[in-house]
Amino acid sequence: MSRTGTLYTVSAPSGAGKTSLVAALVERTEDLRVSVSHTTREKRSEEVHGVNYHFVGEDDFLAMLEDAAFLEHAKVFGNLYGTSQAWVEEQLEAGIDVILEIDWQGAAQVKRLLPETRAIFILPPSRLTLLQRLTARGQDDSTTIESRMAEAVEEMSHYVESDFLVVNEDFDKALAELQAIVSCHRLATDKQRQTLEALLNKLFS
Ligand code: GDP
Ligand code: ADP
Ligand code: 5GP
Repeated sequence: MSRTGTLYTVSAPSGAGKTSLVAALVERTEDLRVSVSHTTREKRSEEVHGVNYHFVGEDDFLAMLEDAAFLEHAKVFGNLYGTSQAWVEEQLEAGIDVILEIDWQGAAQVKRLLPETRAIFILPPSRLTLLQRLTARGQDDSTTIESRMAEAVEEMSHYVESDFLVVNEDFDKALAELQAIVSCHRLATDKQRQTLEALLNKLFS
């Protein structure tokens, strides 16, 4: 299959700011989309079905798994999460770059399957900041926050498997760094050969 778009994974401990950063990045970048995962997690009050996630029951999730509908899937904090294979392939084939906001287990699965995937890891500036952001977001109860904090150090240790590392202290600086990663990839000669096909043909005709 001819894939022209670039696939990125963005992983981070819960509360590091990946959702906010990826939303801002996608808003400011042409031909870049974020995949909407399926999850069995309860919807948070401000989340919208089909926008933040496709919220499904465990039976439906397992049926999709059986049908090989997921490019990757993982159990995170006791809930199942999966990325739609068909949607991602459709975008990449159309030359659209795709971001998967997925945990490190999912990022590792995707990298094994598609080694050209670029893995980005986002770290918080401190553990205390992570706790403050999770609390300030006001969407999870204290038990959930405690379990997410307990998992954070283990999750963060997987930064070593990523290709790019961004620290989200200052939001705008972290966003600029993400934009630089995407730009850098688009400027690579292999990609430019596809993008600039018409120009190159003219220059060398
Ligand atoms: P989630 O839905 O809980 O994952 O959180 P969102 O990703 O929707 O973020 C909540 C809001 O906070 C969004 O409107 C973001 O744009 C905004 N936001 C996040 N971080 C910052 C920041 O550092 N500065 C500013 N100005 N806005 C931020
Ligand atoms: P994640 O998707 O990684 O769980 P979110 O994007 O939901 O994280 O961010 C967690 C909270 O931290 C949100 O309330 C968000 O507004 C806030 N946040 C994100 N980045 C920053 C930042 N650089 N400075 C301050 N607050 C931030
Ligand atoms: P949250 O419930 O806070 O949105 O996400 C919890 C964790 O699940 C995060 O680490 C997030 O990256 C991960 N996650 C979200 N969607 C997927 C997915 O489709 N696949 C995998 N493997 N992880 C996901």
